[in-house]
Amino acid sequence: MTKFVFVTGGVSSSLGKGLTASSLGRLLKCRGLRVTMIKLDPYINVDPGTMNPYEHGEVFVTEDGGETDLDLGHYERFIDRDLHRDSNATTGSIYSQVIAKERRGDYLGRTVQVIPHVTDEIKERVRRLASDDVDIVIVEVGGTVGDIEILPFLEAIRQFRHDVGRDNVCYLHLTLVPFLGAAGEQKTKPTQHSVTQLRGYGIQPDVIVCRSAESISDGLKRKISLLCDVAVEGVISALDAPSIYDIPLVLHDQGLDTVVCRTLAIDESAHPVDLSGWQRVVDQIAGANRPVRIGLVGKYINLPDAYLSVVESLRHAGFDRGARVEIDWIQAEEVGDLIGTARMAQLDGMVIPGGFGERGIEGKIAAARFSRENQIPCLGLCLGLQVMVIDYARHVGGLEGANSREFDPATRYPVIDLMDDQQNVVDKGGTMRLGNYAARLQPGSKVAAAYDDEVVYERHRHRYEVNPRFRSPLEEAGLICSGIEAQRGLVEFVELPGEVHPYWVGTQAHPEFKSRPDRPHPLFRELVAAALERAEGRLPHLPDIDTDVTAAS
Ligand code: GLN
Repeated sequence: MTKFVFVTGGVSSSLGKGLTASSLGRLLKCRGLRVTMIKLDPYINVDPGTMNPYEHGEVFVTEDGGETDLDLGHYERFIDRDLHRDSNATTGSIYSQVIAKERRGDYLGRTVQVIPHVTDEIKERVRRLASDDVDIVIVEVGGTVGDIEILPFLEAIRQFRHDVGRDNVCYLHLTLVPFLGAAGEQKTKPTQHSVTQLRGYGIQPDVIVCRSAESISDGLKRKISLLCDVAVEGVISALDAPSIYDIPLVLHDQGLDTVVCRTLAIDESAHPVDLSGWQRVVDQIAGANRPVRIGLVGKYINLPDAYLSVVESLRHAGFDRGARVEIDWIQAEEVGDLIGTARMAQLDGMVIPGGFGERGIEGKIAAARFSRENQIPCLGLCLGLQVMVIDYARHVGGLEGANSREFDPATRYPVIDLMDDQQNVVDKGGTMRLGNYAARLQPGSKVAAAYDDEVVYERHRHRYEVNPRFRSPLEEAGLICSGIEAQRGLVEFVELPGEVHPYWVGTQAHPEFKSRPDRPHPLFRELVAAALERAEGRLPHLPDIDTDVTAAS
């Protein structure tokens, strides 16, 4: 039977609940248990799809096209399992479902209430993930105990233990143990208050994970154990770790997986832990010290979480090559002013990530051009591909003023446009392509070599496409459309040939969602490999390309 771990947080937000839950997931997986995860988000948006990245960070896209919380990215990277949209439920989605049921008459005229109807729906979302293939569901409850909107979730998870039995549920509470300089000691009072509050809602934690800058002494653990009524082995000290990928090992040293298994009555001898695979990742990270500088040209660079999966993918690629990727966060709007400066010249590689809206677009196009004309390895992701195509159309293909209709509805050359399902250009709407699509790669192309495959699947989240009307002129001008969507013939990958540029590759998809710490994504791996060549002075001299056909003609 499937068992459940509920992870709540207290004292402060941003303590790393998602990473703690993910790390526990990895440890249980290292014990041969089959783990899946779900995030319950108390906010009212139905999903984060429409939220501003400054509000919420990156929107993580699942295989089935769910637009979900960025913590799902951590879950996938740590437990190495592709999740689906049902691994994220918000208050908004739960209420929508309850209200739809009420309108349909499913409640047979009864008064619809938070308890039991909303709490039942929450429990149903969790229960749905249990199956014969899953030993443990880890449930992260977003927000902090004490928030008003978290109450139905706490009530639902309290009832859960009653529903499925004591041995099938473990409650883990994450808190902060601050160090007060004036007193010269670590303070447990915030943890006590937070646990008291949790108990006020009827939840007695089995495990308390204490975040702190310095390790927590045995004496302090005994104090927390006594005052919070948790076994002393259940008090886990979670020290700040050198990298997020060290956290599972830190928590294992503290006995986290042992205490969770005991709480869940899982026979530990039947599930010995094998950390060797993960240890290899951590060793690789420790040995990754060849510096390589990658410029990330985006508009939300003040909030690095907006590009979380891109950053992690770059890091993974670095681990593989023994490289320490340093990211230069470049504000797209400033690119015009930066070209010609040492800062741009020092880049070994560049990523132009996805995005929506007009702000910073000209800067991104300028960045694409700069990387193309200066032999700087560049990977364009989604909007990144689109700006590469616009640059190529304008500056090589002779299509002056070419643009995406997203940014210039009146452009003469809409090289990027809205398309309906039949590949007709449409005025409004357009179908949002979400989730996995198959693409066929051109044999002999850079992308085919990188993937070492002919048909590849990547996740999408965009409305605009390369306009098929401009495909031949662009190809005639030398751009290779190296991957084509299998069903409708949409352009999925573009690149320049090796004789012209070491690595100038764009994808309409979001490969960053598929990279794993021990299995970097091929497109990022090759970007970092090419950037390292540049960083270490090994790039062969390449002939300059004629970048201004317009001026010549
Ligand atoms: N704004 C572009 C589109 O809708 C790109 C989206 C993205 O980068 N995710 O097609």
